[in-house]
Amino acid sequence: MISIKGLFKQFGQLEVLKGIDIKVEKGKVVVVIGPSGSGKTTMLRCLNVLETPSKGILSIGGQTLDFSQNVSKKNIAAFRRLTGMVFQNYNLFPHMTALENVMEGPVIVKGENKQKARQRAQGLLEKVGLGDKVNYYPSQLSGGQQQRVGIARALAMEPEVMLFDEPTSALDPELVGEVLKVMKDLAKEGMTMIVVTHEMRFAREAADEVIFMDGGVVVERNKPDEMFTTPKEERTKKFLNMIM
Ligand code: ADP
Repeated sequence: MISIKGLFKQFGQLEVLKGIDIKVEKGKVVVVIGPSGSGKTTMLRCLNVLETPSKGILSIGGQTLDFSQNVSKKNIAAFRRLTGMVFQNYNLFPHMTALENVMEGPVIVKGENKQKARQRAQGLLEKVGLGDKVNYYPSQLSGGQQQRVGIARALAMEPEVMLFDEPTSALDPELVGEVLKVMKDLAKEGMTMIVVTHEMRFAREAADEVIFMDGGVVVERNKPDEMFTTPKEERTKKFLNMIM
């Protein structure tokens, strides 16, 4: 239901993605691992078109963007709405409360009725365990709480797929668990997710498949058990030895 075909991305002379192919079935959780600089973030940012691919075909649900042709801004905007992105640094609006942050997308982008958006935002904040913090500003919340607002905000757009870009790497260690718990609950509910993370426990416990990227290509993909116990490729073995 989600597919990335022949994805290339260049920044000037630097070729960062060199032909990525990834398929994710509806309801599956894919964890993407790999060394820093291997192109994981760029791949996610291309999938929601925060970066414009140099080449490649992206499909989510029935919608497709083919970057070998001219792609209109309107089609990009519609495609982006199919994804919900959770950023490493939360990217919340500092001058808005948690509730306002979660309402913003539905009201501004989707033109949803304010009253309805407020109710849904309240429900989503309860779902991520922040029902009592709806009127707090980001600066009054811990990193873990801010990231949970970030997840609620992405969910508010009712995306087909949730994209997580190292969602816990800016957090103090004791706050990582509360964010991973919300993510695991989402996975159990059947949300389709692509997660770039260094949290190997999360990968083991929640992923249906793990993808190892290096140097702008997918080197290996496998079920978590096999990836972590019997990796096939030399580069995967080397990377796992370094981090585990
Ligand atoms: P990862 O997420 O695996 O650490 P990234 O996708 O962040 O890798 O980065 C891959 C490479 O692309 C790095 O060399 C990085 O410096 C480069 N890069 C990422 N974004 C940009 C950009 N906007 N302009 C120029 N180079 C970039």
